[in-house]
Amino acid sequence: MILPICVYGNPVLRRKSAEVSMEPAELKQLVSDMFETMYNANGVGLAAPQIGKSLRLFVIDSEPFKELYPEEETRKLAFVNPVITKRYGEEFAFNEGCLSLPDIHEDVMRPSTIEITYLDEDLQPHSETISGGVARIIQHEYDHIEGMVFTDHLSNLKKMILKRKLTDIASGKLHPAYKTKLK
Ligand code: ZN
Repeated sequence: MILPICVYGNPVLRRKSAEVSMEPAELKQLVSDMFETMYNANGVGLAAPQIGKSLRLFVIDSEPFKELYPEEETRKLAFVNPVITKRYGEEFAFNEGCLSLPDIHEDVMRPSTIEITYLDEDLQPHSETISGGVARIIQHEYDHIEGMVFTDHLSNLKKMILKRKLTDIASGKLHPAYKTKLK
């Protein structure tokens, strides 16, 4: 089922999410709905707060990054109760966008490598070191479950320049090709 995507201004995007503790069947359905919603909106990642659920859960599919990072293995994963335990490597800029912030694309600096522990959608535990494009997507989605969005990382000047665009999104003036939810 395709779900509406919460956009900037929706308070759920500012909440720190709670741990996932639902029935396995319910979790599987939610993960499947999140992938469907993400693909429908042409995203590479989607976090539970973006569909109105304040839960520590996100999905990613790095397939569209193949051209940009041909040396990287494509990853399609669900992260349940993830914890980024370490971030290191040289920070690099990448032009990020977000389904919750339609029409905004800005360079964001983030470290190249992360260490992360998480459960998959079958609740199996994993611990991995991930670099490059996939680490970029994960860090962006991880921000969402902490109540952050990527524009929080920008300079005050950049934020000021973006203020009107953000106000437009928050007042429902933007209409992307997918269904959105302001409240
Ligand atoms: Zn996002």
